[in-house]
Amino acid sequence: MHFYKKIATEMFGKGSKLYSTFNLKCPQCHTGEMFETGSWSFKKSLDMNPKCDKCGLNFFPEPGYYYGAMFISYIWTAFFSLGFVFFCNWYLELSLELSFLLLIILTVINFVYIFRVSRSMWINVNYKYDAEAIAKFEENKKSKLN
Ligand SMILES: [Zn+2]
Repeated sequence: MHFYKKIATEMFGKGSKLYSTFNLKCPQCHTGEMFETGSWSFKKSLDMNPKCDKCGLNFFPEPGYYYGAMFISYIWTAFFSLGFVFFCNWYLELSLELSFLLLIILTVINFVYIFRVSRSMWINVNYKYDAEAIAKFEENKKSKLN
């Protein structure tokens, strides 16, 4: 059992890409939040923090940085939609119209999360987890003050 627990922690725990991507944490320290409000809140749902308040990582390294994230969300949504409609229509034997209607409802509900995870995936491709990131950032702040 211990063995499986270890694998699960390595795959989904702090320090793994899956952890930071799906929990919308800073890709560098896995502690700071990328977004101001909770995932299921529709208030300021598309507003992202400019940088990590824990390790200081800039979430906007260059203008237009997140254009690529749009393509990720297109591809992801397209594959998901296809799979979902097939599942409803063939497996659950719902009509095609109903399958599409359910798909639209689901997409609307998940819109904010899809948008956020796409950005999170994008930035996670470019930045690696650094367990020392927060300590280094604090160190830096101190040396600037002196
Ligand atoms: Zn951070």
